[in-house]
Amino acid sequence: MKRLMYLLFFVLLTGAAHAQQAKYVFYFIGDGMGVNQVNGTEMYLAEKEGRIGIKPLLFATFPVAGVATTFSATNSITDSAAAGTALSTGVKTYNSAICMDGDKNVLQTVAEKAKKAGKKVGVTTSVSVDHATPASFYAHQPSRSMYYEIALDLPKADFDFYAGSGFLKPTTTADKQEAPSIFPIIEEAGYTIARGLEEYKAKEADAKKMVLIQKEGAEPSCLPYAIDRREGDLTLAEITESAVSFLTKGSNKGFFLMVEGGKIDWACHSNDPATAFEEVVDMDNAVKVAYEFYKKHPKETLIVITADHETGGLGLGTSKYELHLKSLTNQKESQDMLSRSITDLRKMRKIINWEEVKSLLGEKMGFWKELPLTWEQEKMLRDAYEESFVKKNVVFEESLYAKTEPLAAAARKVMSQIAMVGWTSPNHTAGYVPVYAIGAGSNLFAGKMDNTDIPKRIAKAAGYK
Ligand SMILES: [Zn+2]
Repeated sequence: MKRLMYLLFFVLLTGAAHAQQAKYVFYFIGDGMGVNQVNGTEMYLAEKEGRIGIKPLLFATFPVAGVATTFSATNSITDSAAAGTALSTGVKTYNSAICMDGDKNVLQTVAEKAKKAGKKVGVTTSVSVDHATPASFYAHQPSRSMYYEIALDLPKADFDFYAGSGFLKPTTTADKQEAPSIFPIIEEAGYTIARGLEEYKAKEADAKKMVLIQKEGAEPSCLPYAIDRREGDLTLAEITESAVSFLTKGSNKGFFLMVEGGKIDWACHSNDPATAFEEVVDMDNAVKVAYEFYKKHPKETLIVITADHETGGLGLGTSKYELHLKSLTNQKESQDMLSRSITDLRKMRKIINWEEVKSLLGEKMGFWKELPLTWEQEKMLRDAYEESFVKKNVVFEESLYAKTEPLAAAARKVMSQIAMVGWTSPNHTAGYVPVYAIGAGSNLFAGKMDNTDIPKRIAKAAGYK
């Protein structure tokens, strides 16, 4: 009996020694990516192929899945700062806080723990580097809107790789004072700043620490939406590839990399379904980069995908037992771009007739051509035209990240109606978010959890103290 006990003990001990720690951690956060954003995208992809069902996203096929709650310390509905803090520090805080609790105590992030454990660390996003989600991994500020102060925290965290579209307030403090540009400050701390992918590739080998942003002249607040992408635009997949390449060069002790798909949220704030689904696909393309890495190091790599909250109250169905997601494939560009096209049209001549507007909406949204409209839908568009083009009363619709031409806003509503996609809010909701995982320690992410559990479980899987 005693012998048997020893044997059992030995088996357990060797088993534990062989359970691999996650040397490489990928942490993907789809901002605003609730359960329906994922399910809707998979159904949209199937309908695109002319069938009912789902065409799986890669990350949704990962073997471990769960759901997470998202409420913050102060609100049933979180913002991205409190949610980012929960997902990075394992502590709930008030809405708008970046890694500080209600008493303004600094909270340590899982990225900082990874750094202490000797790992290389990367923080990346498709929006600006100083935005709430990426900031929640390296900065500590009482408010997410302190963009300049957040940027100053970037060199202090001393991580190896940062990437995103740019910086929102590189020379203006939170109290609106002119201040020294953050770019030389970051460079003096030992960082190389690469503007665009070519510059990154040229500078990568000699750089000790890296900040990759878009080319000079690009909109600093975000990468273009996937649906609007043009040749040469920086993409989240390219950022992920660059991060992996940078974090594995030289002595390789492992890495922690956070990748945010930041504009799923923006498209959902705009209640723009086609644009939102294409953003989810785009984040999945970045996950594919991580998955290729995982296939080379399956025992030492952990990939976790989750979201900070749901945005829009996206509903898949509005009345009948039908969804017409295929109709969304007629939409050629985001609501933002459509809004710009309409502004351009309005400025072209004093009088723009209804037929010209119809032709633009037909070309960009498929209305009247591929998608027949009801009398009410045509009236909604016609009313917006009469008001803004004929009476010249142009009242832009304002949402968190967009100012939209009234006619573009009407077109977007008509498109959601045709697709039978519903929206309950222009902001966030409290719904569950999905959690997916594969690789070393992935079994920790099964079932229902709180968002604060996720960074704790990552730290456990990776052996961070
Ligand atoms: Zn949001």
